[in-house]
This record gives sequence, C-alpha cells and structure tokens, in this order.
Amino acid sequence: MKVVRSIPVLREVLGAERAAARSIGFVPTMGALHEGHLSLVALARASTDVVVMSIFVNPLQFGPNEDLDRYPRPEERDLELAEGAGVDVAFLPTVGDMYPQGRVTTVSVSGISDVLEGASRPGHFDGVATVVAKLFNLVRPDRAFFGQKDAQQVAVVKQMVRDLDFPLEVVVGETIREPDGLALSSRNAYLGSEDRARAMALYRALEAGAAVLRAGERPADAERAMLDVLASVEGIEVGYAVAADPDTFEPAGHGDVLLAVAARLGFTRLIDNLIVKASERGTA
Ligand code: AMP
Repeated sequence: MKVVRSIPVLREVLGAERAAARSIGFVPTMGALHEGHLSLVALARASTDVVVMSIFVNPLQFGPNEDLDRYPRPEERDLELAEGAGVDVAFLPTVGDMYPQGRVTTVSVSGISDVLEGASRPGHFDGVATVVAKLFNLVRPDRAFFGQKDAQQVAVVKQMVRDLDFPLEVVVGETIREPDGLALSSRNAYLGSEDRARAMALYRALEAGAAVLRAGERPADAERAMLDVLASVEGIEVGYAVAADPDTFEPAGHGDVLLAVAARLGFTRLIDNLIVKASERGTA
C-alpha cells in the first residue's frame, strides 16, 4: 500500500494507474476505521482495479460546538487496517493541503441538505459536498463507495454527482452492525458502558417502525412507534424519528420508506436508518 500525503504525489500515482487503463475505486473516510469502512473497501476491491482510501477529518463538516478536536485519529492502526483490507493507495492530506486559503468555494446541494441531519447540523452537508467534490477531482474515481449508514449523505452526494456531471458511479454499501444491532460508527468509541447499552435502542426503534409498516400501518404510525421506543429509555435525548422518502427526504408516501433516527446519549450524537421496501409494506 502506498501512503500518499501530498496532492501532487497523488495525481502522479493515480495518473500512472489511469494511463495503464486501470479502473479506480474510491472510499472516502475520516479514519478511526471499523468494519463498516472495510466493507466498502471490499466492495471496491470486487469491482475496481485500484482502491484509493482517503483519511481526512474534514473541518468544514463540523459545527462550532461539535467534536472536531476530539474526533479519534488513530493513524497507525488505520493504515494497518487499510492495508489488511486491500487498499492500494491511502491518501492522508493535511487541512492546509485541502484548504490552503482557509475559506473555500462551497458546494451546496439545496433542499435535501436542509432537513433532518442538515437541520440539526447547519452547514454540515455543505462541508460534506465541498470536500467530496474536491476529493472526486483529486482522485477522479470510476466508482465511489459510501455507506447506507449515512443515508442523507448518500442522497446529497448522488444529487451533486448528477447536478455537476461527475463522471463516476456512486455505489452504496449496506450498514454493518454489532450483534445487538448498533450500527458501527467511529463515534461509538465515545460511549461509556451505560450509554453503549442504551444505544441499541436506536436499532430497536427502527425495527419497531419497520414492523408497523410491514403490518400495513401508515408512516406516521411508524414514527410514533420509533419515538415510543426511544422515549422509553432514560438518558436518550431524541433528535428525530421520521419516516421519509429515501430519495427526497420528504415525508414518506406509498413507496419505499426510509426510517431514520438521531439521538444524543450524553455528549455523543448517533444516527441510524433502515429502508422498508414498498413490497414489504403490508396492507392494513
Ligand atoms: P466516516 O469515516 O464516518 O466519514 O465514514 C466513511 C464512510 O463509511 C461513509 O461512506 C460512511 O457512510 C461509511 N460507514 C460508516 N459507518 C458505516 C457502517 N456501520 N456500515 C457501512 N458503512 C459505514
């Protein structure tokens, strides 16, 4: 595995791969790698010749009172895991390389960036879209791999790729979970043992919402069921529990439903989601 820390070297290394007609798969991450990230590497390995992973904690996507300073950065361990998973090129730029003038042109995907996570974290998706656009221009991948865990990020990136004509395919990998259902997340490392036990309520809430839809009840009933589960656990502060259209994030209609929850446990904010296909929805 090549570890690349500068933009000119990245361009040179990937230029040679492109010249040899090798396809490039790209997995953008903020590091603190876990099986969720590595599952995306496996997907990339299976369908592209050269797998590039970026590890970059992007300051633009953190709000002023968020965890930018304490976000875990276990670089040595990350590089070992990346190499073990089959990454060919690990790209670790500095903040100064990515934003040499500090303030940058902003890529902003309107509409979808403003609801749910966007409403809770103003400016977050502008930060995501801006860094992903820059990384796409640097890596120029044929395919880019994102996790369903961050459903709204997937929707924002797909919209940006369509609107700005990035010549690449966005591939979405399923959410990898702990045995009790908790979605893997770099932020799970913040959880003490009590909050870790409470955290499984997010997945239980999603399951409860899904059961309601499978029984043929309405999206609003699923939202109530999810809220009931979350509200029953002391020490969880609910951000949202919604049933939405998976593409637009508007309130769900009669088709596929994205069930999405966000909750705060202590100072840790977690999100999770589940899609219930239209074909799985029962008739009441
Ligand atoms: P992050 O490092 O949190 O920015 O995540 C990098 C990529 O890994 C994003 O595309 C995430 O959606 C994806 N990811 C994070 N957690 C999981 C998970 N539990 N399962 C699958 N993909 C994930």
